[in-house]
Amino acid sequence: MSAAVRAWIVASGDELVQGRGLDTNSAWLARELGELGVETRRMLVIGDDEAGLRALAEQAGRELELLVVTGGLGPTLDDVTRAALAAAAGVELVEDAGALATLREWLAARGRPFSESNRRQAFLPRGAELLPNAVGTAPGFLLRCAGALVAALPGPPREMQRMFTDELRPRLERALPPRPARELARFYLFGLPESNFADRCGDWMARDADPLLGVTAHSGVLSAQLASADAARLAARADEFRERFGEWIFSEKSGDQARVLADLLLERGITVATAESCTGGLLAQRLTQFPGISAVFGWGFVSYANAAKQDLLGVDPALLEEHGAVSLPVAEAMARGAAQRSGARLSIAITGIAGPEGGTPEKPVGLVCFATCLDGVLQSTERRFVVRGRDLIREFAAQTALDLARRRLLD
Ligand code: ATP
Ligand code: MG
Repeated sequence: MSAAVRAWIVASGDELVQGRGLDTNSAWLARELGELGVETRRMLVIGDDEAGLRALAEQAGRELELLVVTGGLGPTLDDVTRAALAAAAGVELVEDAGALATLREWLAARGRPFSESNRRQAFLPRGAELLPNAVGTAPGFLLRCAGALVAALPGPPREMQRMFTDELRPRLERALPPRPARELARFYLFGLPESNFADRCGDWMARDADPLLGVTAHSGVLSAQLASADAARLAARADEFRERFGEWIFSEKSGDQARVLADLLLERGITVATAESCTGGLLAQRLTQFPGISAVFGWGFVSYANAAKQDLLGVDPALLEEHGAVSLPVAEAMARGAAQRSGARLSIAITGIAGPEGGTPEKPVGLVCFATCLDGVLQSTERRFVVRGRDLIREFAAQTALDLARRRLLD
């Protein structure tokens, strides 16, 4: 087995070190590099600092195998990446005829004039390989600095991702030493706390276990990954995993519960409507992320006030008076009203106390009531979310509603 390829990722830009922009490129790149078997050892953020970037590239050349820099490839004088990396490699900047021609075409196609500052972007370190930019003006490049391969990609995430995928990744796959094949199995779970999950895993999560099991948690969703070089071992453990955690697994493909529910609704042609109080439309927002969802989703009610629950959904005022807005009878009435008024086969209702004010001993902050109505049949349940803060309570409420709706369809 060959030694691991180690990388640093450097995000460059004054806005990043001044707190005016957040570096999201590095996390994306680290995940992509990880898929290629490259181990990211450091992520660094630096301003438009030519000398600083040059020093980092020189250090990378002495200490590791790969450096990926994003940002600073634009046409202005504060875009210093080209010059810094040329200096680190000990070469000069030279005009690249191919880059110049592409740049002229790109601007002409958009009716934009070619300016002398654009010309700056056609200068690359001598010996560098051009990485064309399909969606912007700044070309990237690949060059060698002592022991390291150094890649420069544009800062805007859309351009960076496209260039990585189309241009850099294939080149890295050819340049990097072959690594042992590794099979992966992924599982996405909802409703099981991470610590509880770990307890149930026993020694599956040991650092030297084969298959190796990794897990991350986000908004109540656990993403578990099994990895092994041995396909048979992996398949056997995957079966055991399904056996042990089947109750909570909602997908082996996507960690987005809305995606999974939307696919199920579309596949079965079941129409859905939402009736939301404390989530204020979060559930509808999650479902309408997907193009084509209009085939099954047409109506989302945000009924925050009691009057809205009455007017929009026909909830009986006596029910609100007797049980309060956060109660199973009201959640059921909301679901029934949403189904009746929209004509949808499935409806999902949420009413809860997101806080921080408004809790009582019987109805504390974090109490959320849910109801679903499928072909006229109601079901309801309540949860108490002990997560911190209004945003998280609302987020967990939406996630739970998606989970309940999926279970309802699979029943
Ligand atoms: P150009 O100037 O031609 O757009 P560039 O390569 O010079 O490309 P930058 O000027 O460094 O890129 O960044 C342009 C924009 O891209 C920034 O304003 C920011 O919105 C975004 N961006 C830059 N770096 C990052 C990063 N690391 N993570 C997320 N967004 C970034
Ligand atoms: Mg720029």
